Formats: sequence, C-alpha cells, structure tokens
Amino acid sequence: MRNKVLNSLKLIVFVITFYAFFQLHSTRNSNITEDLDLIIGESSNFPAHWVGTIDVDKNIPILILAGHADSQGLAGAGTPGEAVDKFGLNPMHPGISDELFWNLKLQESIVKIGKKKGLNINSYDPGIRNIDDANDPRTNWSVGRKFAKRGGYAIEIHFDAYGKYGVGSGLIPPFSTRPNKIDESIAKIFGRFPILFRGGLGAPRRQIRILEIGKLEGLLEENLRNVKTRQKTIKLLANEIVQAFLNGII
Ligand SMILES: [Zn+2]
Repeated sequence: MRNKVLNSLKLIVFVITFYAFFQLHSTRNSNITEDLDLIIGESSNFPAHWVGTIDVDKNIPILILAGHADSQGLAGAGTPGEAVDKFGLNPMHPGISDELFWNLKLQESIVKIGKKKGLNINSYDPGIRNIDDANDPRTNWSVGRKFAKRGGYAIEIHFDAYGKYGVGSGLIPPFSTRPNKIDESIAKIFGRFPILFRGGLGAPRRQIRILEIGKLEGLLEENLRNVKTRQKTIKLLANEIVQAFLNGII
C-alpha cells in the first residue's frame, strides 16, 4: 500500500515537472515566433496622415528589392547594426553591411513564401554590389522604377539604423502615386512614415515603396544573429509581410 502511494506521488511529481518544463519551453518559443511587436521594436512616430484606399488587382506583379544591394562601399551601404558598430562583433559577411546581409535573407524568404501562397511575386538582385550611378539601368531603383511604371508593386526592404541613428519600423509610400490597400495593410503592421520623409527619398520618388522592418539592434538583431532563432525570425517577418500583401489584395 505504501509503495502504491509512493509510486503515485512519483508519477504526480513527474507529470508536474514535465508540464512545467513544457510550459516554460513553449513560452520561450512563442516569444520568438509570435511577438512581432516586441521583435521589431518601436515604429516611426513621425506624423503621417496618408491612408491607402486604392483597390489592388489580386494578380498585381510584386517586386521585392533588398535595400543597398548595389551600394556597398559607398556612403549608402546600409547600417552595420548595433552588434558590429557598438559591440564590436564580426560582420555577418565580409564586404557587405549587416543590413544588406539580412535584407537579402529576408528578400529570399518573402518571395519563397509569397509564391507558395499564390502571389505574383519576384525579386531582383543586381548582383554587382557597387554601382556608382543610381540611374544605371542595373540598379534596384532603375529596375524598380520601370516595374512600377508598368503597374507593378515595387518595394525595397530595409533594416533601420540602431539607437538614435534610426527611426524605427514603417512604410514610406510612393511619392506621386496614391497609396493603395497593400500600403495600408503593411502600414497597419509596421507603422507609417510621412510621404515626404527626408524631402522624398530616391526610391519613393521613383514610385518604389520602402519598408523599414525595424532597427537593427536589441532583440531583433539578437534573434537574427542567434543560429537557433535565425530561421524562425526571418520566417516570422516574411510571413507578416506576405500576409499583409494578401490582406491588401483580397
Ligand atoms: Zn537601409
């Protein structure tokens, strides 16, 4: 009888321990996979009054560009990120900024997931990492400009600078095209910048949207750099962006 009680007690302790461990483990994971706001951090708090109301055809061609893919080594190489610039860690890849490294990873993931979900989506990578003239036909902006002119939705993804050097997440809409429902749906998740941000940047002036994912710092950068959470984090961000496209066209 005593043995029976003891065995039951052992079993109860085992179940409780297992349950506690399982709970802890799943909460830990959910911090990485579900809490987008926590990961992307603050969003732009510049006053932005635009609302995207224009309907979008569900087969609209979408082009994903990786910010700074053609401007390495120039002034516009993108942010090195907090880990490298502030804490002296090694860059993710020699010769390119950490921002470009992550822009390229995210670009690939967005297109892969987007295609799976039935979007008419592609990417462009100039391949050449240092094109001096922004109007060279091979640059992101030249290709994106052409694409937008033909009625496509061109968007360049970025990670913002850390700390006081950056602003935070948000969408910069095109300069002279009225924002549409995809813009609205992305802005609802990531926040919004004013149309005339910094007097109208090179990309928006060519009717290319800019999406700042978040500052390359803190939890976002840690989760990207940690090989255990890297894929999950990239997938989480890509999924959110693809979902925003889907919400904007349906
Ligand atoms: Zn950038």
